[in-house]
Amino acid sequence: MENTGHDRITGMDDFFRSQLAQWPLAKKNYDDLNRVLIKDVAMPGNCLVRVQFNLARMRSSAARVDKKSISERPCFLCAGNLPPEQKKIMFGDSYLVLVNPFPIFRRHLTIALTGHTDQLIMGRFGDMLRIARALENYTVFYNGPRCGASAPDHFHFQAGIRGFMPVEEEVRTLPRKRIIEDGTVVIHAMEGYHRNTLVMEGDSAGDLDRWVTKIYDILQGMQPGENEPMLNILAGYYGGIWRVVVFPRGRHRPWQFEAEGEKQILLSPASVDFGGVWITPRQEDYERIDQALIMDIFSQVSLGEVAWAQLLDRLG
Ligand SMILES: [Zn+2]
Repeated sequence: MENTGHDRITGMDDFFRSQLAQWPLAKKNYDDLNRVLIKDVAMPGNCLVRVQFNLARMRSSAARVDKKSISERPCFLCAGNLPPEQKKIMFGDSYLVLVNPFPIFRRHLTIALTGHTDQLIMGRFGDMLRIARALENYTVFYNGPRCGASAPDHFHFQAGIRGFMPVEEEVRTLPRKRIIEDGTVVIHAMEGYHRNTLVMEGDSAGDLDRWVTKIYDILQGMQPGENEPMLNILAGYYGGIWRVVVFPRGRHRPWQFEAEGEKQILLSPASVDFGGVWITPRQEDYERIDQALIMDIFSQVSLGEVAWAQLLDRLG
């Protein structure tokens, strides 16, 4: 199947149906998704965190993403290593659209660059906007190499069907402060949202790209030791307007991830967690996660308050 870069990517329901009919592993994991435990934790400020106990995500949540572990495993996004059942849709000349066989969403895609190239967003944000426009009922997301990507050596986005992540509505309806209005782009900072969050809206891909680059450059100056500033990005296209949510990060994983015994929590926050759906592959963690723990972990992995104030100051 092929789609040109300008088109909508259509026929996704058929794509999923045919993949689930032919690929027993994917079929089992999508069926299991109907049986995962989900609980909603109401947070102060009228926002919601939905906690999902999802055993099939163990491989992703606990993934070893250090250089040595990565170099010793075959890359699971390179076309030559994909399972024989996996079908691909081309997007433009350089991306493969794939059904994610370890889903969080009822419809969960991985969109992988055709070449084996490091996970770094610089120069590819425009691609993200084009993909978001092509997948109109999905939210497209990017996990930085130290912000939840389980293949930091192979560039990819993911996309999940809309209506599951609370952030999609909350960034529109909950309190936010306008910090930039520049031509076609408006940028807000969320207020009282438990993680520092920027919301960008506009109808010009070029202008959005310029502002994302500006945010990137400011953050990079604050985190000179990183290959790229730590961040997660979500993008959706809503009837002519892109809405892009940027979560600047201060830390890869909470201290609890490395803790031993009952203090340990196996949660490696990425875009979906920042989007308000916390995925945990262990039932004991699922049961322990409550309002206080969510606030604690968000405050550890989100950009720290001093850096956040500097970012807003330098943007404005
Ligand atoms: Zn690869």
